[in-house]
Amino acid sequence: MKKELWFNEYHTDDVCFSFRVTEQVFTGRSEFQQVEIFDTPEFGRVLVLDGIIMCTEKDEFIYHDMIVHVPLAVHPAVQNVLLIGGGDGGALRELCRYDTIESIEMVEIDAMVVEASKKYLPTIAVSFDDPRVHLMIADGLRYVRRKEQAYDLIIVDSTDPFGPGESLFTKEFYGNCYKALKDNGILVNQHESPFYGQEAREARLTHRRMKSVFEVSRVYQAHIPTYPSGHWLFGFSSKGLDPIRDFKPEAWNARGLSTEYYNTDVHAGAFMLPTYVRTLIGEDTV
Ligand code: SAM
Repeated sequence: MKKELWFNEYHTDDVCFSFRVTEQVFTGRSEFQQVEIFDTPEFGRVLVLDGIIMCTEKDEFIYHDMIVHVPLAVHPAVQNVLLIGGGDGGALRELCRYDTIESIEMVEIDAMVVEASKKYLPTIAVSFDDPRVHLMIADGLRYVRRKEQAYDLIIVDSTDPFGPGESLFTKEFYGNCYKALKDNGILVNQHESPFYGQEAREARLTHRRMKSVFEVSRVYQAHIPTYPSGHWLFGFSSKGLDPIRDFKPEAWNARGLSTEYYNTDVHAGAFMLPTYVRTLIGEDTV
């Protein structure tokens, strides 16, 4: 009898998330991390870096909708974007749907992630050839140091705060992003999960650092089934634009973009945090 293959990701020392794998379609060791892609019956193709799920064909739309459409529905005229990380191409795909965006600089540290995604994630890595996209294989922290007043929007679609992604959760990095943004610029980043101990501590620290750098710093949430606990946070920081006060639902709806997760009601609701998350990030009085 053929042995079943299962993928396990430990969310804590005592909790494990598992799914059945039909086939490992890619594996490679880059300078930075182990890159794997699996075929699975439940989630379709799954990209895994250093044993941690980055995205799956089945639920990637949630993460990519929320990291891209939220800031685009607030900023009145995004033209220049810096995307850090995001080597699978999902955030890029959503950004490229906006014909008002003129340029997207994408800085991904690991060429192997981009190449494997182009080959094995055909529904996600679809926009690398868009003429507005300028892909640089480099470290986001070092790249952004040299920039000043250059971007309307910076999206940090990084791995977790250890390994190559660690520097993208530092105060130094946020300070450099602040400098790299134009006067009404927005930074959106993935902000870990509020539920399990270690990630919850990272989420709290990340929010504290963002708040010490930006005039506006808010946290919003989405339900992402394949991420630890399924409850995931994002950070919205800016030099003045507020994700609710300056939110333009009519303008976004008039663009006529069809999305599977994001809509303008979800936008407003995503910033209404449960009490335990408010307490965690120190915003109990909001
Ligand atoms: N949605 C994902 C998640 O939270 O699980 C993130 C996906 S995306 C594949 C993360 C990317 O960030 C990876 O491809 C990784 O190589 C890249 N990355 C990590 N550290 C980086 C750095 N310092 N500069 C640029 N890219 C980085």
